[in-house]
Amino acid sequence: MLRIVLNALRTGVVTTRYPWEPSVPPDRFRGAPVFRAGSRLPPPSVCPTGAISERFDEQGRHVGLDLARCVFCGRCAEHPWQEAVTVGRDFELAARARDDLRIEVVADAPVAAAAPPASDSSADLSAVAVAEAEAGVKAEIRSVLGRSLHLRHLDAGSCNACDWELTALLNPVYDVRRLGIDFVASPRHADGVAITGPVTRNLETAVHRTFEAIPDPRLVIAVGACAASGGMVGEGYASAGGVDRVLPVDVYIPGCPPRPEAIIFGILVALGRLDARRALRTS
Ligand code: SF4
Repeated sequence: MLRIVLNALRTGVVTTRYPWEPSVPPDRFRGAPVFRAGSRLPPPSVCPTGAISERFDEQGRHVGLDLARCVFCGRCAEHPWQEAVTVGRDFELAARARDDLRIEVVADAPVAAAAPPASDSSADLSAVAVAEAEAGVKAEIRSVLGRSLHLRHLDAGSCNACDWELTALLNPVYDVRRLGIDFVASPRHADGVAITGPVTRNLETAVHRTFEAIPDPRLVIAVGACAASGGMVGEGYASAGGVDRVLPVDVYIPGCPPRPEAIIFGILVALGRLDARRALRTS
């Protein structure tokens, strides 16, 4: 017993301070790719999930990136496109609208002129603006997390990677219960559902029935590339594709799988949506 207590004291607090403090992913972490406008960007055939698209008009070649489809494999940032694409480290990518995850840049065009270097006074101003923005975000998080949220987790046909990340939310490192967030066994006790995987035809009915069992207003959170877009699986005889093919989705969380902080961020985005829906229903 004494040894256990000593070990606990030696280990100290392991729980992350995210979202109150920024989280720094490990060096090997691969986030969303960043496309440099005006450079030689890769063709759609490079991407194994169809996340890259292109179109042409009088401005030149436009290259699109669908973050909901991207599995962050980094293939588009390999030779010979390493100058045009960098593997980013951003994981706070969750969006309420599918279109917000679509990015487009003009390739092979002159690069926009760089902004002039900021003077000392403007640097001070921007520092104040950043501090104010951070304070605003923290206040928003506090107001949003002022009450608890109960989610039902539903695997609609995933490979289990996203499910492991969701499970990690309950371990001592991420411990989402400290934020008033918990997972429940029954959809009837839930405020929403976090769905992983593409919606397989076998589980399509279960997805509908789970959604119907959750009291309204209810949230639908699509966790990971497969749930957000169909991902590597896409649509076919065995898969309906992304969750939004069968249910109205409130928040899309990109990633393959999204790291736990990315899911926490997505839930925060979702909580904002829940407030808006409740206001709508009571107005
Ligand atoms: S990182 Fe991989 S999945 Fe994402 S756009 Fe590039 S090639 Fe496609």
